[in-house]
Amino acid sequence: MTMTEENRSESRPAEAQPFQADVAKLLHLMVHSVYSDKSVFLRELIANAADACERLRYEAIAEPVLLGDDVKPRISVSVDAETKLLTVEDNGIGMSREEMVEALGTIARSGTKAFLDRIAAVEAGGEGAAAGEDNALIGRFGVGFYSAFMVAERVDVLSHRAGTDASWLWSSDGQGTFTVTAVPADAIRRGTRVILHLMDDAKSYTERFTLERMIKAQSGHVPVPIALVEKPGAEAAEVTDGAALWTKPKAEITTGDYTDFYRSIAGQFDDPALTVHFRAEGRQDYTTLFFVPGSRPFDLFDPDRKGRIKLYVKRVFITDDADILPRYLRFVRGLVDSADLPLNVSREKIQESPLLAAIRKGATSRVLSELERLAEKEPVAYAKVWETFGAVLKEGIYEDFERRNALLALARFKTTVSTDSWRSLKDYVGALKANQTAIYYLAGDDIERLKSSPHLEGFRARGVEVLLLPDPVDSFWVTSGGSFDGKPFKSVTQGVADLALIPRADVSEEKEPEAAPTVKIFVAFLKSTLGDAVADVRVSDRLTDSAVCLVAPDSGMDRGLEKILASAGRLPSARKPIFEVNPRHQLVVALAGLGDAESAFKQDAAHLLFDEARVLDGERPADARLFSERLARVLGRVLHQDSAAAKA
Ligand code: ADP
Ligand code: MG
Repeated sequence: MTMTEENRSESRPAEAQPFQADVAKLLHLMVHSVYSDKSVFLRELIANAADACERLRYEAIAEPVLLGDDVKPRISVSVDAETKLLTVEDNGIGMSREEMVEALGTIARSGTKAFLDRIAAVEAGGEGAAAGEDNALIGRFGVGFYSAFMVAERVDVLSHRAGTDASWLWSSDGQGTFTVTAVPADAIRRGTRVILHLMDDAKSYTERFTLERMIKAQSGHVPVPIALVEKPGAEAAEVTDGAALWTKPKAEITTGDYTDFYRSIAGQFDDPALTVHFRAEGRQDYTTLFFVPGSRPFDLFDPDRKGRIKLYVKRVFITDDADILPRYLRFVRGLVDSADLPLNVSREKIQESPLLAAIRKGATSRVLSELERLAEKEPVAYAKVWETFGAVLKEGIYEDFERRNALLALARFKTTVSTDSWRSLKDYVGALKANQTAIYYLAGDDIERLKSSPHLEGFRARGVEVLLLPDPVDSFWVTSGGSFDGKPFKSVTQGVADLALIPRADVSEEKEPEAAPTVKIFVAFLKSTLGDAVADVRVSDRLTDSAVCLVAPDSGMDRGLEKILASAGRLPSARKPIFEVNPRHQLVVALAGLGDAESAFKQDAAHLLFDEARVLDGERPADARLFSERLARVLGRVLHQDSAAAKA
């Protein structure tokens, strides 16, 4: 039966419905896992209650009757130790029957799949998995409503959607199914009451002090006042006042306040790595409170992942879908509260408003300038931010032309002279060698392979630093035509290396000796032997230890980018490479010295050298069968010579 049919069949309202598969999995985790800190459930329920109040406040702008005479948003937490009940109630927007089935039977969050996979891996890891990692995972993910089943053996949700005249009861023991039943309309006036039937070992959540402490710590800055009813019939006592933290003067806010607020707005457990709280005044009046998280969310690279910046207008929550910050800042959490945007127009209209465009611009610049400040004042803290989010920030270098220079200045790199700590481009340019005119880089997918690439030899020998770029995004920004401090970016796998003008540090001669004439003839021989497989064969500046390597033609794409695009099907095929030969390499010199009588052997050697260069680039031999045959012939010859020598 489809969900729509089920929705219509109100004559059988209490029939048990199954949870969506992912929910069932998540619930299983909630019920059976031993997370040390189960108290997050309350944070999640209160966050939902506050969201519901904010959504009502927004809808009531266009439709004031929704509020009726119950205007002031409120959340209450009530307990009954006798019956082990804990109730979280709000007078927010409420849910209709359909909304309940949808919201409390499925999971819409992006990243849930990633979360489930990750946690399955941790559980499978058993002994190997770090103690408490699962708990940290849950905290980072923010499990939402279903976390109630960590502490409750049954959860009832009574709800009345604003503007309707019906109340509904959702109920489940978290074992795979739930029911939705019609109840008398006045069972609840408006909003939602979530009733937890606590498990025996969760009884402490009925203690007043425990709850007060939890609410203050986890939900202290929720923008709706929260009251506590410590036993049936007791008076509600206010625990938090619902004042919006961001409207308070900075001097009155402690680091702890910011951290608590960050945790409640971002659904994370960690400490923010950077807090950006500022008020813009003048032509536009708005406040932003942004946080750079201390750790990486699961869905950072999910293409559907949206920025999660909340937009408020005069403290009324409007949407978290307004793309306040650009995609490359999608890890930033927080909010913007505008004093100028019109409240009485639709969300869509607000999105298109030029005022919002100005806020986007100002907010983005502010985040970048705060990152700059952090980089300058606290390089160690900044390095950690870069470590966590650098791969995302780098997307901005080619997406945000206007701020390219700012982003390049923020970028940090592992390089051939610094594989452990991060280097900035300013550091790099400060250490240029005499006659060095470009910023050299090597892009690929594995930093270890990059480090051992033969392309780096000539650069190392001259003490020329090379940026090692292991992220997929690197090949894109680096070829997007930018430069830093007037120096273009240049791939060490592309074009001629231009190294002749930079003296070698490891040899005393002023100039490299010219390649021997026999080597030049050998190069021509290689070219005719390899034929169409290569664009050209030439002697190399960039090799000192290895015999050969492949490089890309001078113009166009670097080989790393070509490979990425070709493997993504966005290029018909990579272009033919240039085959470079080290004219001073023993093997090359010896092969060049062989006479015409050895041409069959030289041909095998030519192909094998070409395959070697491919393998060094992370590819396979051009033809595996021919490769084995050639290798067998060459080895056969060596063995034959050895045994002949032994006989003599
Ligand atoms: P999230 O809050 O991230 O959407 P949750 O699992 O916490 O995920 O909640 C799922 C959905 O259930 C919410 O998006 C909302 O639609 C609905 N919901 C939960 N609690 C309430 C509530 N108190 N009032 C109204 N709707 C609610
Ligand atoms: Mg929630």
